[in-house]
Order: sequence, then structure tokens, then C-alpha cells
Amino acid sequence: MVRRGRVAVVGGSLGGLTAALLLRDSGHDVIVYERSAAELEQRGAGIGFLPASSRYLAERAGVDLDEISISTKYIRYLDRQGLVIHEQKQPYRFSNWNTVYRSLLRRFDRERYLLGHECVDIHQEHGKVQIMLADGKETEVDLLVCADGVGSRARSCLLPQVKPQYAGYVAWRGVVSEQELGEDAVPFGDAITYHVYANSHILVYPIPGIDGSVRRGDRLINFVWYRNYLLGGDLIDLMTDSDNELHEVSLPPGTPRPVHIDEMRATAAARLPERIARAVLAVKAPFVQAIFDLEVPQMSFGRVCLLGDAAFVVRPHAAAGTAKAASDAWELARALAEHPDFESALRAWEPGQLELGRNLLARTRRIGRRSQVDCNWTPGDPELIFGLYEPGR
Ligand SMILES: Cc1cc2nc3c(=O)[nH]c(=O)nc-3n(C[C@H](O)[C@H](O)[C@H](O)COP(=O)(O)OP(=O)(O)OC[C@H]3O[C@@H](n4cnc5c(N)ncnc54)[C@H](O)[C@@H]3O)c2cc1C
Repeated sequence: MVRRGRVAVVGGSLGGLTAALLLRDSGHDVIVYERSAAELEQRGAGIGFLPASSRYLAERAGVDLDEISISTKYIRYLDRQGLVIHEQKQPYRFSNWNTVYRSLLRRFDRERYLLGHECVDIHQEHGKVQIMLADGKETEVDLLVCADGVGSRARSCLLPQVKPQYAGYVAWRGVVSEQELGEDAVPFGDAITYHVYANSHILVYPIPGIDGSVRRGDRLINFVWYRNYLLGGDLIDLMTDSDNELHEVSLPPGTPRPVHIDEMRATAAARLPERIARAVLAVKAPFVQAIFDLEVPQMSFGRVCLLGDAAFVVRPHAAAGTAKAASDAWELARALAEHPDFESALRAWEPGQLELGRNLLARTRRIGRRSQVDCNWTPGDPELIFGLYEPGR
């Protein structure tokens, strides 16, 4: 086992927090540097809650998953008229980003979770890692875990040639409370509901309320609608907010321009099954996430490693991005427990996580291509089942 040391985690979202908790549990002295000045918030965005994502909370924190997530029983496809054209039994769990984040953060030492700390540069020398922060301070650690997401600063220092590649489409997303939707919410309560049409698909599922409540009525109905926007003017126009600021990755609630919201709503009304359209139209503050692919050739660099979206960004069609970040963290903790020093632990950890990222990226690219380009997505195809390692697992 690696001697216990001082570890920094850059990025305090779901991947970084899971790594911080696991390494803290192994006895390391862990500090998290999070760029955001305030606690992170994603205003209720839903996530498919795969076993790897919930593993820390279930195994280490004794959390009853039914208290922080919702189980659905079916996958259901609707045709344009709203008739069920395919239904199969397939249990899934869904949670919302805020609930999972808060549940993890509650288990970490708050004085070691430093908000408003942006890492701007890193160096390695004499078996130590130096981290430069935006406020000019420097700190030195034995191991640096970079979980700073798709725009990772650490990755641009280590692998400047690697850049995210736009997939050709974005996800329009939003939530509306069951209470507000009333009777219209009922059909979405026990399933993930899909509608697939030419070069697009939308999915709808229930998630806990903003306050984390899983009680019927308090919950939210969440939609994710994949729509194609051409790289260049089309995408730039969408991603430019009312203050004329261009957002590269996501437009948070309240920032998409009215012209785009109006277009999205008009298309929903004209093109989606009425039941789904009513849910989309009831969403007050829809938001947008552009879909990217990102792949690194290397995840370990001496005593520095890239984890989660900093290393591989995969399309959301397997609902496995968070699960992959969590798996990177669990395997890292295992490697540190099994190897005599930080460098050899990272070297041993890297191949399995590279393989996981590559396989997941290839699978989600295939699924995305079938929906958004080739239009041969068939309801009931087992490849479309969520899963980290393979469909269903
Ligand atoms: C439409 C959509 C739907 C999705 N659905 C699912 C799903 O159902 N299930 C699922 O598992 N995943 C899903 N994902 C993927 C999931 O959101 C990501 O894979 C996951 O959040 C990655 O976590 P992360 O911790 O690696 O990075 P991030 O969550 O991106 O966190 C990076 C953190 O680093 C911080 N940071 C950035 N730069 C710096 C810096 N220089 N210094 C300090 N801090 C910094 C940021 O503020 C942020 O807090 C979805 C993604 C999209 C786009």
C-alpha cells in the first residue's frame, strides 16, 4: 500500500467528490479545490443513477437509495399519436444532480472543500506536484487528481492537443413538478418514456424534487431532447445568451434566448406526441447542453491523473458519465491500496480506465449516430439499455 500522503483533488463535482471521499477513507490527507465560488447547483437536472454512481452512498454512507432516487419499472416508446408502440420491463433508478451532490458533500469535511479555488497550472518536481491557483497561491502535494470536467485546465496543461469534439447535436433539457403537471404527469411516473423521430429523440423520466423529496407529487418530470444544430453559425446562435455571451458547453436555465425557446416550444407542439409536448411546454426554464466527445491517450502522468469528464466525455445515451467518473475513483483507491508508491499505482490504474472510457465512448457514439444521423434506432434494441460496462451493467 502507498504510504499515506497529501492529496489534492481539483474539481469538486460528482467525480471529484467521490475520489476525495474514497482517498480520505483510505487515510490520505485530502483537499478539494473547486473553482466555483458557491456550492454547485444544477437546478434539478436528472441523472440515470447507475450502481457505480450510487456505490459510495450505498456502501460507505449507508444511504437508503430509495430515499434519494426513484425506481422506474419500464421502458416505453410512444408513436407520434401518443400510442404505446413498445414496452418492456427494465428497472432503472433516477436521481437528480443536486441530491447526489449534496449527499456526497455532506460526507466530506467541509473545511477541506475549498470553494472559489481555481487551479491554473501544475508542475511536477522531485516527487511532488506543485499546484498554482488563480489567486497566486501555490501548494504542494504528493498526488493530484484532476476531476475538472470537459474544459479541464489540467488536461490542457498535460495534453494540449486534446480537444472536445462537438457531436453535431445538443440536449434541450428541463424539469416541471408533478404537481404542476397534474394528471399529465401520471403516465411518466413508472417508466422512462421515449419518442423517436427523424434525426432526433426525446426521453422523459421522473426524478426527486428540487429539495430531494421522492414523494409522489413532490417529484419532477425531467425531459432530455436531442436536437441537431450545425457546427458554426447554427450552434453559435443557439449558445449565445441574451447578454451576447457565447457559452461553449451549456446554457443554464434562464439563459437561452427567447427566440430559441419559442422555436423549441413550437416544434414540441407540432412534432412530439401530445402527452410529451404538454410536459415540455410546461417547463418554465429550459436549458441546453451541447454534446461533446472527448478522448485522451493517457490518464496518468507521474503523480497526476485525469478522472471523469476531464479524461473522457461520453455522450449521455448510456447514462453513464457519472458512473464512469465514480469507477475511475474506486479503481484509483484500489490501485493506491495495492501498490507501493503513487507512480506505480497510477501506472497500474491507467490501462483499465482507458479501456473503460474508450469502450463507453464508442458505444455512445454508435447510439448517437443511430438516432441523430442514420435514423435506424429501433425501440427495444438491447444496445440502447443504459449501463456503464455494457448495456444493462
Ligand atoms: C445532457 C446530459 C445528460 C447526462 N445524463 C447523465 C446521466 O443520466 N447519468 C450520468 O451518470 N451522467 C450523465 N451525464 C454526464 C455527467 O453529467 C458527467 O459525466 C459528470 O458530471 C462528470 O463529472 P465530473 O466530476 O468528471 O465533471 P464535472 O461534473 O464537469 O465537474 C467538474 C468540476 O470541476 C470544476 N472545475 C473546472 N475547472 C476547474 C479548475 N481549473 N479549478 C478548480 N475546479 C475546476 C467545475 O466547477 C466542476 O465543479 C449527462 C451529461 C449531459 C450533458
